[in-house]
Amino acid sequence: MTFGDGGIAIEAVSEADSSSECPSYGSETVTRRGDSFRCHDCALEAHSDVAGAWNLLQSEVGPMARPAGLSAGRDRDASENSPDNDYSRP
Ligand SMILES: [Zn+2]
Repeated sequence: MTFGDGGIAIEAVSEADSSSECPSYGSETVTRRGDSFRCHDCALEAHSDVAGAWNLLQSEVGPMARPAGLSAGRDRDASENSPDNDYSRP
């Protein structure tokens, strides 16, 4: 059975240049070195294949929220150490 049998359309696309821009902000001020991808505008750091897949996905379905795995432990997702957590409150 293939995806086509289930009515899911598959289109093969080249991964070339798919990670040449930031998937979060569209910035082209990025550095790609081996498997590492880094955006200099928003400081996004990701595996280059993840950034590439993210860009390809958005090219088909539109803007997406940042995958949770990329922001874990940073910014608003670092809730465990957030000053908003006041455990001394009654
Ligand atoms: Zn960026």
